[in-house]
Amino acid sequence: MSIALISTGTELLRGSTCNTNSCFLGRELVSRGGGLAFEMSVADRAEDISFALSCALHTCDEIVVTGGLGPTDDDVTLEIVARFFGAKLVMSDVLKAKIDAFWHRLHKGHCPKKQYKQALLPENGKIIDNPAGSASGIFFESLYDRKMRRIFLAPGPPCEFEPMAQNFLVPMLLEYEKECRVTTGFLAAGIGESTLDKMIAEKLKPFAVEIGVTSSAEGTRLFLSGSENEVQKALLAARQSIGDAALPDGETKLFDYVGKLLIENNLTLGVAESCTGGLIAKRFTDLAGISAVFQGGVVSYSNELKKNLLGVPEKILSRCGAVSAECCRAMVEGVCRASASSCGIATTGIAGPGGGTAEKPVGLVYIGVRVNGRCEVVELHLRGSRPAIRERAAAQACNLLREMILKEI
Ligand code: AMP
Ligand code: MG
Repeated sequence: MSIALISTGTELLRGSTCNTNSCFLGRELVSRGGGLAFEMSVADRAEDISFALSCALHTCDEIVVTGGLGPTDDDVTLEIVARFFGAKLVMSDVLKAKIDAFWHRLHKGHCPKKQYKQALLPENGKIIDNPAGSASGIFFESLYDRKMRRIFLAPGPPCEFEPMAQNFLVPMLLEYEKECRVTTGFLAAGIGESTLDKMIAEKLKPFAVEIGVTSSAEGTRLFLSGSENEVQKALLAARQSIGDAALPDGETKLFDYVGKLLIENNLTLGVAESCTGGLIAKRFTDLAGISAVFQGGVVSYSNELKKNLLGVPEKILSRCGAVSAECCRAMVEGVCRASASSCGIATTGIAGPGGGTAEKPVGLVYIGVRVNGRCEVVELHLRGSRPAIRERAAAQACNLLREMILKEI
């Protein structure tokens, strides 16, 4: 891999704009057998852009530079990049005509001279079409450190960058990729990063693949990259080590997968949520077509609602409390009864940051799942912020439902 991306824009460093272009380009390249080898974001400053170029050129031959191609004084990318490679800038008649046409479509009168900054091209440069804006993309080749390098300049606004990347940049960049790389993998549901590593590290050693892992509330995603043949062999070995926790090919989201499992197996679902506050119902109802099986949910925060809607006995609430395995079991039984569902999920816990005690600390969550009359309640001790605890509780409850359905069918 020898493709680098340099994103220019002071706003990217301030955190006021999220660098979606790098995610987009990376994803597009990976999906078509390539990949980004290097990425850097820099301010719109000559010395920073030059520094980024020299870093990128250390390992990469194809360099994409985005942003700063506008007509205003803070748009300096082309000038800096051209100076770096010693390329002379010349006015392109084609681009000048395009800018005139662009100006006349939106404004009256003559096009101000400043706009023609966008008609400059390096002497051997080629235009990359940008139907969405006035800044054209630019491609040119240049010798650097005795090697021919290919430089691609593209506009920063994602509405212009994304179609240009999809239609022109990615196909052009991939022509220079020496080998076709495949990237695939799976979500190991409910499995943490280090546990996954322990399960697969030795098994994957014989294969020439690059391994990547990312953890989330749903589990850990494993990515394997390399040649088709090696990746397929490694994938098989990884699947054998992980077993049922590995989601099938093409299934990237836990809730969507479990929703499909419910639909395929004609299982209906009702949910009773306390600490997750409707998150589980939200995630399931994100899936189109879920109405075939999803009966509904109750956000039963108060004891009254737990008693009146779900039939949680007063005795359980007074003796064990709302955050207890007993209450969770009664909630899941209750929601299955009330919604006439074959499956149910319930959550009750302390999401924090306040409200914890020595006996029931923040992060104590009970999740309950019922599938065809069989009920399981699990006690979780979760760490993190309130949103993190809620996300993890919701995902673990969904994963417990997945495990219980797989045992049933
Ligand atoms: P520029 O081409 O640098 O003048 O950028 C114009 C607009 O595109 C600004 O609103 C930027 O915040 C936005 N933009 C530039 N680069 C990126 C990027 N990498 N990801 C998302 N937005 C960007
Ligand atoms: Mg900018």
